[in-house]
Amino acid sequence: MSTAYEAVIGLEIHVQLNCRTKMFCRCPNRPGDEPNRNTCPICLWLPGNLPLFSREALEKATCACLSLNCEVQRESAFDQKVYYYPDLPKGFQLSQFHHPLAKNGWLDITDADGLSTRIRIQKIHMEEDVARLVHEQEGKTPVSLVDFNRAGAPLVEIVTQPDLRSPQQAMEFLRYLRTRLRYSGSSECSMEQGTMRVDANVSIRPRGSDRMNTKVEIKNMNSIRHVGDAIAYEIARQENTLHVGEEVVLHTRLWDPEKRITTAMRGKFEGPCVPDPSVPRIVIDDEWLEEMRRNLPEMPDRKAGRFASQYGLTAEEAALMSSERDVSEYFEAVAKRGVSARLAAQWIAGQVLPLMKEHNDAPAQNGVDPERFADLLLLLEREEINANAAKEVLKKLRESSASPGEIVAEFGYRQVSGAAELEAIVERVLAENPSAVENFRKGISKAMGFLMGKAMQASGGKANPRLLKEIMDRKIR
Ligand SMILES: [Zn+2]
Repeated sequence: MSTAYEAVIGLEIHVQLNCRTKMFCRCPNRPGDEPNRNTCPICLWLPGNLPLFSREALEKATCACLSLNCEVQRESAFDQKVYYYPDLPKGFQLSQFHHPLAKNGWLDITDADGLSTRIRIQKIHMEEDVARLVHEQEGKTPVSLVDFNRAGAPLVEIVTQPDLRSPQQAMEFLRYLRTRLRYSGSSECSMEQGTMRVDANVSIRPRGSDRMNTKVEIKNMNSIRHVGDAIAYEIARQENTLHVGEEVVLHTRLWDPEKRITTAMRGKFEGPCVPDPSVPRIVIDDEWLEEMRRNLPEMPDRKAGRFASQYGLTAEEAALMSSERDVSEYFEAVAKRGVSARLAAQWIAGQVLPLMKEHNDAPAQNGVDPERFADLLLLLEREEINANAAKEVLKKLRESSASPGEIVAEFGYRQVSGAAELEAIVERVLAENPSAVENFRKGISKAMGFLMGKAMQASGGKANPRLLKEIMDRKIR
C-alpha cells in the first residue's frame, strides 16, 4: 500500500465449540459424519419443538471468553436473527445480538520488530450454526442437497474492534487467537476442517486521519494465509478505486484463492433481530464464573514466563515450548524427569517438532512418550550415546515400544568412550592422513574438522566427540 493511506481492519471470527452435543438438542456435534445422521426434530427445526440449551456449550463459550480477556456478562439472551435461506429453513437463527455473552476483551500481539499492539475485542456471542448446502450435478441437472448434521452446532462469534492496520497484523492476531482458544480447550480452531471461519471488514483512510470510511466485508475465509492475501488485495483495490476518483461502496466480497482476487457477491437479505421467547435468559452467578476462571488452563504467555524462570529457558525457547498446549505439556513432562530442561527444549524444537510436522501428528501421538524421550536424553547427557546416535534412536523409538536403552544395545549405538580405544583410532587416522596433520600444524584450522570427521567415521559414528577432540588435540601437538 502506498504511504498516503492506512488500512482499518476488523475481524469477525466464527469458532465451532468442541462440545459433545449440539447447542439446543442432544444430537452429537459431529458435522463430518454421514449426511443427516445427527438430527432430531429440534435440529431439523420442525414446528412444535422447544430448544434445550446445552450447559456444556455455555461452559466452553465462557472458557473461550475468559481466554480472550473478556468481561463475561452476568445476563445474556438469545435473539432470532430473521432471514430465510435453504440452509436455514426455519427462517431464523438463534444468536445473541442485543445481549452478548461477553464484551470488552483484548489480545496483545507482537510483530516482527518486537512491537506490542493491543487489539480490542468488542464482543463474543453464542449462536447456532446453520445446515450445510452441498452443490452437485445429477446428469445435466445441478442439484443442491442439505445436510443437517451441522444445523444447531454450537458456535461463538468473536468481533474485534477495527484496531488492525495491516494484513500481517490480522494474520498474527488470528494465530494468537487460535493458540489461546486451543489452550482453553473450547475449540480445535481448525481452518481446514471449517471449525474456524473468518470475515474481514476493510476500509482505508489517509494516514493520520481518524475517520472511519466506507468498509467492504470479505466473507468466509478458511485459512490464515487467505485472510492475509484477501486483505492485501482489498486494500490495493480500494486504493485504485480512490485513485481513479471513484468511491468505495459498502458491499460484501468473496476471496477466490485460485485467482487470488476478491469478487463482489450478492448480499443475503438481512432481516430484523428480535428477542427469542423460547430460550430462557442465561444468568451467571459469581461463584460459577469464579470456578470457570479457576479451571482455565494456564495461558501461553504466562506459561512462557514460567518456563523461562522455572526451567531457565531463553525467551525464544520458552515461547516455542509454549506455542501449542500439547507441545508445552510434552516439554514439561520431559523436563520433570530429571533431564536438563534446555537440552529437552532444544531437542523438542530440533527433532520432535520436525518429526511431528513430517508425520502430521501431535507430540503425544508421535509414538515417543515423554518417559522414553526423557530416557533417551538422559543417555545423551550421561555421554552413553552421542547426538548422531540419539537421532537414530529417536527414529527407531517411533516404530517400536522398546526402551531407548534396549535400542542402543540392540543396534550397538553405545558411545565409544574408552580412552585406549579412542587413542588407537586417533593414532591410525593421524598416520593415514599426514598432509592434513601438516596443514593443521601450519595453522589451517579446517584440517582439524577433516581429521575429526575421519576419526568419527572410523568409530562407526559412535565416538564420544568431546573425548575424541581432547585426544586428537593432545596427539597432534
Ligand atoms: Zn438434534
